Amino acid sequence: MAGLWFTEKQTENFGITMKVNKTLHTEKTEYQMLEMVETAEWGNMLLLDGMVMTSVKDEFVYHEMVAHVPLFTHPNPENVLVVGGGDGGVIREVLKHPSVKKATLVDIDGKVIEYSKKFLPEIAGWLDDPRVEVRVADGFMHIANSENEYDCIMVDSTEPIGPAVNLFTKGFYAGISKALKEDGLFVAQSDNPWFKGELIRNVQRDVREIFPITRLYLANIPTYPSGLWAFTIGSKVYDPLAVSDDSFHDIETKYYTKELHKAAFILPKFVQELLQ
Ligand code: SAM
Repeated sequence: MAGLWFTEKQTENFGITMKVNKTLHTEKTEYQMLEMVETAEWGNMLLLDGMVMTSVKDEFVYHEMVAHVPLFTHPNPENVLVVGGGDGGVIREVLKHPSVKKATLVDIDGKVIEYSKKFLPEIAGWLDDPRVEVRVADGFMHIANSENEYDCIMVDSTEPIGPAVNLFTKGFYAGISKALKEDGLFVAQSDNPWFKGELIRNVQRDVREIFPITRLYLANIPTYPSGLWAFTIGSKVYDPLAVSDDSFHDIETKYYTKELHKAAFILPKFVQELLQ
């Protein structure tokens, strides 16, 4: 891919297209097709199985919104788990919270971690922090073997195909509930409401059956199909909408603000209808 236009197809009739200056690395890993490309508009970009995972120019939206919404909802998050997230972006944001003593990253594919460190240092550069433990393992199995351990869990997975299929099941959410402490909460990336409404509806239904507080929030991510991205929160005690103003402390962000924390839960009507 040099001087070519790359398209991530969302349906047979719609895709998102961008110009690629050059390919930096291509490899069929044990789990997926990994490509690192330099794009003309968005900087270096990680693709897995032909789908955009992250780009240097807009990654801050996704990573800030995955990390800070749950971490500011919990009054004292100390032990945090990221499932997937091998590019390291969520970990970088998690480490901005002084209460966090330990952050564990469990990604099934060590090659994602290796090549993110090489080609996306502004995203992956915090994976060697002493508070971080990196494990190359299946997140489903890690969750199945954890009990009463974590304050917050972030599921930063690929779409529900290939190795991530199990990460979108009710059994996984039940495992997450067991892996969380009694006042813990989790967030999972839940794709986009334009084309994946059924997935969002199913995830909400399953999470609602397990967690007393279940909410959906949105963010604008230009390199993801349709640009509108959804996240599901399941919480045992703390409501992300009930966070008081003095719970927020100053951290450096480019998208997340305390006002946006609440505004992100105000849903367009067609998205509200998905949840009914
Ligand atoms: N932010 C992206 C998005 O929404 O498209 C996803 C980021 S990408 C780093 C997701 C990661 O999930 C990949 O590195 C992939 O290896 C990992 N993954 C997929 N299935 C997994 C599993 N079962 N256990 C742990 N990690 C998994």
